Amino acid sequence: MSSLVLAALAGAAIATIVALVLLSRDHQRRAARAGAIEAVARRYALGDLSRPAPDYGDDELGAVARAMDAAVQELGRRLGGLERDRARMEAILASMVEGVLVVDEQGRLQLVNEAARQMLKLEREASGRPYVEAIRHPGIVQQLGRALSGEAVEGLEFSLAAERNRTLVSRVAPVVAAGRGAVLVLHDITDLRKADQIRRDFVANVSHELRTPLTAIKGYAEALMDEPDDEEARQRFLEIIHRHAARMERLVQELLRLARLDAGQEAVEYAPCDIQALVSSVMADFEPLIAEKHQHADAAVAPEARVLVVDPAKMHDILRNLVENAVNYTPDGGTITVSAALEADRHVLTVRDTGPGLPEEDLTRVFERFYRVDKSRARPGGTGLGLAIVKHLVQVMGGTVTAANQRGGGAVFTVRLPLRT
Ligand code: ADP
Repeated sequence: MSSLVLAALAGAAIATIVALVLLSRDHQRRAARAGAIEAVARRYALGDLSRPAPDYGDDELGAVARAMDAAVQELGRRLGGLERDRARMEAILASMVEGVLVVDEQGRLQLVNEAARQMLKLEREASGRPYVEAIRHPGIVQQLGRALSGEAVEGLEFSLAAERNRTLVSRVAPVVAAGRGAVLVLHDITDLRKADQIRRDFVANVSHELRTPLTAIKGYAEALMDEPDDEEARQRFLEIIHRHAARMERLVQELLRLARLDAGQEAVEYAPCDIQALVSSVMADFEPLIAEKHQHADAAVAPEARVLVVDPAKMHDILRNLVENAVNYTPDGGTITVSAALEADRHVLTVRDTGPGLPEEDLTRVFERFYRVDKSRARPGGTGLGLAIVKHLVQVMGGTVTAANQRGGGAVFTVRLPLRT
């Protein structure tokens, strides 16, 4: 072999070895990058998309890795958006006063908000269970069943046996989007029904209160039309008619006043008021009746409570009503005491008597319209509205009024008013 051929062979062998070394280094680098890409993919699979991706390189492997990375990051952004939407929806549902309950196609509770859970007395783990097992009210089970089979369902008003005085309304609608299902919404209408009842009672009471004097007026007017010869009887009939007409007038006036107070139509005009003078003048108004009933009247106004910034006209009406009741409901020979003092940051006015007092269970109810402790004991001129008016008048001046019984017997009404300058 010539030396030329030998040299050529040696050159080729060296070139092959160099190429092999270079190839093996490239392979190692690729394997290392593939490992780094795999580590990133594992991190992504665990949900950690936060750290920046490494430099994937400029070749085909790098291009594929970058494209996959961008797709994963975009998916992550969308998932984050969905998660935020879900959290927002959960927060809205949790803060709703209405109960919301969603049932899926298979009749399983998919979503139950806190209000629905409380209203229907459902267990904490109700979600995911079949609604027929979780909900015990047959009416609601029926409503959901009909909605799931695509029927239009009417609203249902009901009360649970465990909570008879709570009135609920449930409305169900079928869900058509994303598979069939049904959504049920519950409203608590207890207050609405109570207000309804109060209005109905009020109308019945007004009619009843007006009927009594009207019947008397009609009867005595008919008797007068028969022209009795007896002048004394005629006079007596006229007096009765007059008395009942006056009673009706008072009733209507008080009703109108309550309506004005209710609608916030009575302006409050604050001015300094001499409480001592006010108490004396109200007591003086009842002096003839107090004397007739041989009662004693006392007034004790503390010097620091003497002048108070209130609406003097309203203050007068409050005191007049309370003193009138005390005088009327206290038997002959009793004592009526009015006192005024300062207590912390309040002005406290009390009217006490030595009468029969009030049954404990009626202490708050006496401020309701037409509420009378004992119908048979109701005084003839009374309307049953006086204390309701007192409560409103005190409230518009920012105060409170309470009724209580004294230890030794007798009622005590306490008016607390904020101090103003
Ligand atoms: P009325 O016009 O019947 O007096 P009020 O609203 O002033 O109506 O009072 C409501 C009811 O509260 C009265 O019917 C009476 O039963 C009871 N009441 C009010 N004040 C007294 C009192 N000082 N002592 C005992 N009962 C009272």
